[in-house]
Amino acid sequence: MSKVANIQAEIEQLGGQIFDLADKYGNSRSLFGKKDFYGRLMEWSMRDPLFKTQMFRFVDVLPNLRSSDEVVSHLSEYLNDTRTPVSTFLQGALRVGSFIPPVSAAIIRKNVGGMANIFITGADSKSALRNLRKICKEGARFTVDILGEAVVGEREADEYAIRYRSLLDFLAEHTKSWQTSAPISENEPPFVNISIKISALCARIRSSDPETNIAAILSRLKPIALRAKELGAFINLDMESHGLKELTLELFKRLADEPGLSDYPHLGFVIQAYLRDSYRDTEKILKWAQQRNRQFTIRLVKGAYWDFEKVFAAQRTWEIPVYTSKIETDANYERITRLILENRRYVYPAFASHNVRTISCAAAYARTLGLTPGDYEFQMLYGMATSIRRALVDLGYRVREYCPIGELVPGMAYLVRRLLENTSNEGFLRARFGANTSITELLRDPASQLMERGDRLIHHADNPATHRSLHHRPISSDSVPSFANEPPADFTSSSVRKKMAQALQSVRSKFGHSYPSIIAGRPRISGELIRSVNPARPDEIVGLISTAAAGDVVDAVAAAKRSFADWSKAPGEDRCRLIELLAAKLRENRYDLAAWEVFEVGKNWSEADADVCEAIDFCVFYAQEMRRLNEGRLTQETAGEVSIESYLPRGVGAIIAPWNFPLAILCGMTVAALVTGNTVVIKPAEQSSVIGVQFMNLIEESGLPDGVANLLAGNGETVGSLLVVHPDIDFVAFTGSREVGTEIWQMAGVTHLNQRNLKKVVCEMGGKNAMIIDTDADLAEAVLGIIQSAFGYQGQKCSALSRLITIGETHEQLVPRLIEAAAALNIGLPEHPSTDMGPVIDQAAFQKVQSYIEIGKREHTLSYQGHIPSGLRGFFVPPTIFTDVDPASRLAQEEVFGPVLSVHRAEDLDEALKIANASPFALTGGLYSRSPRNIAQVRSEFLVGNLYINRPITGAIVGRHPFGGFKMSGSGTKAGGHDYLLHFTFPRVVTENTLRHGFAPEIHRQSSADTG
Ligand SMILES: Cc1cc2nc3c(=O)[nH]c(=O)nc-3n(C[C@H](O)[C@H](O)[C@H](O)COP(=O)(O)OP(=O)(O)OC[C@H]3O[C@@H](n4cnc5c(N)ncnc54)[C@H](O)[C@@H]3O)c2cc1C
Repeated sequence: MSKVANIQAEIEQLGGQIFDLADKYGNSRSLFGKKDFYGRLMEWSMRDPLFKTQMFRFVDVLPNLRSSDEVVSHLSEYLNDTRTPVSTFLQGALRVGSFIPPVSAAIIRKNVGGMANIFITGADSKSALRNLRKICKEGARFTVDILGEAVVGEREADEYAIRYRSLLDFLAEHTKSWQTSAPISENEPPFVNISIKISALCARIRSSDPETNIAAILSRLKPIALRAKELGAFINLDMESHGLKELTLELFKRLADEPGLSDYPHLGFVIQAYLRDSYRDTEKILKWAQQRNRQFTIRLVKGAYWDFEKVFAAQRTWEIPVYTSKIETDANYERITRLILENRRYVYPAFASHNVRTISCAAAYARTLGLTPGDYEFQMLYGMATSIRRALVDLGYRVREYCPIGELVPGMAYLVRRLLENTSNEGFLRARFGANTSITELLRDPASQLMERGDRLIHHADNPATHRSLHHRPISSDSVPSFANEPPADFTSSSVRKKMAQALQSVRSKFGHSYPSIIAGRPRISGELIRSVNPARPDEIVGLISTAAAGDVVDAVAAAKRSFADWSKAPGEDRCRLIELLAAKLRENRYDLAAWEVFEVGKNWSEADADVCEAIDFCVFYAQEMRRLNEGRLTQETAGEVSIESYLPRGVGAIIAPWNFPLAILCGMTVAALVTGNTVVIKPAEQSSVIGVQFMNLIEESGLPDGVANLLAGNGETVGSLLVVHPDIDFVAFTGSREVGTEIWQMAGVTHLNQRNLKKVVCEMGGKNAMIIDTDADLAEAVLGIIQSAFGYQGQKCSALSRLITIGETHEQLVPRLIEAAAALNIGLPEHPSTDMGPVIDQAAFQKVQSYIEIGKREHTLSYQGHIPSGLRGFFVPPTIFTDVDPASRLAQEEVFGPVLSVHRAEDLDEALKIANASPFALTGGLYSRSPRNIAQVRSEFLVGNLYINRPITGAIVGRHPFGGFKMSGSGTKAGGHDYLLHFTFPRVVTENTLRHGFAPEIHRQSSADTG
């Protein structure tokens, strides 16, 4: 027999034994076969995916519901959305319950509580003790984990650190006399064993700055690890999402290298086999161990965040980091199993799986290497596979159970993950105990199955293109051209961080240059030079720009008008190609462009990168849209007549752009005009003129004919106004403040002698955006969403949140956490990767925001104001939160455009909506709620251009979230949407009579076919 066949035979034999013994204990079977609430929920969920989604959503919100009425109404709302026999049955039960809600709510709570008890060892360490002892009595060991919500502030992170230390002390104290009746004792790891999630030890994890994160986490983790060493206990770092993987591995190495711990072998971390790069990561860490002759534990898991990783990557058009077929994950797990067993000298392997094939394979391979059961261990999750755990103990293996402790609220995410795992189509436990798959099938070799399929295991670096194509294929329908967004930079990757750091260095070396206007392809320096400064260090001149004079405006419009004749008649496809070339140029220079943004307008790394991506998206999206428009549209199928609607360019446009999205908005408005056949004069905001010049340079490099786009720098009131009133300007695309926008609207309405067209104004203005927090909202999520929406780019986005409306008692719970989260924001120079908040744009903005803060201090309650670190001399304004704000006050009605948030209370959703809609603006709005009925009401009654539910209200993505508002927020043009290009065109219909003396081609063809 070959070696492979031998091992397979051994796996089958051991697997058979485990199954036999597990049947004897029978617990896992009852996990699926139960006739109680949990069993029914599992059974119904497996039958009906819609029911499963709704029930898990209900289970997720349940701990937050305060009254019995709320429990009954939520369950009823979730069930209303499903039409299955099960939900009809439950609805009936609820109708009965609605007469006596306290009783039925109590029953529901009791049942879900009972369900949580299956997977959660205890509400705290004390109450968990009984179950831990039981595990030991049954011959297994434990590792204890503290369940938690997302940590949003330093105090919460400190509290977690204290809880982990107390847990160590508590376990050491209370388990002193415990013994496991386990059969093996050689190489026995420490009895006290805890598992830590690093995200619980850090208030804000910034992907762009792992060093600061590591320092912050180590400052809390090291004392825990040193205490563990004193107690002779074991510490494991759990692995969370892929975004934290590099950080966790690096952190582990740093911890292990710390003085006092460098000789301590009882530290471990997790490798997730569903990650395509996990084999390579394991190799790398083994090399590190070899160099240091270091010993540690690897817990090998498949991975618990599979759905999340897929969605998270797809939303960012990133490569999906996980395998997408289960057998690939299984085969990779076995490959890593062999690797770590072969390196037993350094690694104590902990195989965490409930899959009998996976377990048997590890044991069989270990045996072929001459290892004994004391040389490694198996691990399982508490409550998931008790019968398999007991079978393994009986067979003489060391087994450890992962025992989470915590209250139901923080534990809910964990509970829901377990429920999903148990009902997942591809999970082993469901296959074995839910679907009765045969033992032979369950024990098949995943690698051979892959080979039968003609696949091999592909790792991340083998062929990135393959993986990219897996998700890069955009969803499209026949009528909508396919479009994929530019992936944002992944700053968790060190090579990406290096590129950004190099770009910052290179751009800094170009400071202080002078830049001309560009008219008909030629530079023009005329008026005085204006200084564009770094708002974070105003004494630093980013560049000097020549202010256009009145004559320059005349010449630029004339150049655009001359170029219009050829450009407007060029084939649409040629224009699309040139705009796509511009996209390629932007892509090529993306880090430099982002670096200019960091310096000239004070965006931090991620905000600057996002702006560049959006600019690229606009080019690609509008080129695709133009191709669609180019084809024309048959208006109606009519015999004897053909009517085609097509689109003509309007003429010469003035593009007047803001500084807050200095590239994206400038580029979006420009390319929409150009691709539709117009020519333009571009006027960037004076504060971001250098970025405007960089953009203009790339337009020229892309090969657009001279004069099609012209650039005039200078002051808005003079250059901008001259442009708007010029009789040869046919349209204005403007984004900026309400004051300037309404003025332009008015000026453009005056018709001059010799004017060719009525001027169209594509106008996007500000917002006074509100977000409602419902009583059942997930507060940790809401806090993070509020922080991002209100303080991202210092609140200087037109979409930014400035009015927060809390319903009922939510206020008391939310505001303290919000303040903590605001206090965790790092204010600093935007060029530093750790900076969350930089300066506001200039002195005028600084004074304006400060004046509103003064008003707030006089009229409302200042609940929080951040602190500007000493040494910062730019236009820095700290995050500021006012409470008890009258919704009619100036602070609540006027646009501040800075990091100032006002908080309002509402009794109920109706009042919250009334406050939210009481604004002259209607741009963005948001809601955090888990009530389907309230979500539906807000959808229909919150009147804004972009409404976001259960997510931040900023960060619109081209194509996905067509962006723009109405009322005093704009003319309703929706940038990045399918209707946008129409605003830059005149629609035109050509109708041709195709009937010639009674001969209609279509009818004739039809009748001749009939007579055959
Ligand atoms: C003691 C212990 C500790 C754990 N600690 C962690 C941890 O720190 N971090 C963590 O992420 N997880 C952790 N887990 C969770 C673990 O990842 C899941 O329980 C595990 O994935 C279930 O695997 P299994 O071998 O028991 O079941 P199986 O049913 O054999 O495998 C299920 C797993 O396969 C993968 N999978 C499912 N469908 C697909 C698909 N279509 N394509 C590719 N892969 C797929 C997923 O990872 C899924 O979880 C731990 C588990 C245990 C037992």
